[in-house]
Amino acid sequence: MPDGEGQRTIAKCISCGSAYAAEKWPDGTIQPIGTRDGCQCGATEFQVVERSEDTVLDGVNE
Ligand SMILES: [Zn+2]
Repeated sequence: MPDGEGQRTIAKCISCGSAYAAEKWPDGTIQPIGTRDGCQCGATEFQVVERSEDTVLDGVNE
C-alpha cells in the first residue's frame, strides 16, 4: 500500500446510519469515499462498521 492511503473500510453516519465505503487514516480520521462533504444528511462524523468479507453496498463502487 503506497504512503498516504488510508485503510479501506466501511463506515456509517452517526446521525442517520447511512453506510459508505470509506478510508480510515492513521490519525483516526474516517473519510467516506466519494462524499468529501460528508453524509448526504449533512453530518460529517462517521463510525467504522465491522468489516465483513460478505459486505455488499448497493450503489457504492469507488
Ligand atoms: Zn447521515
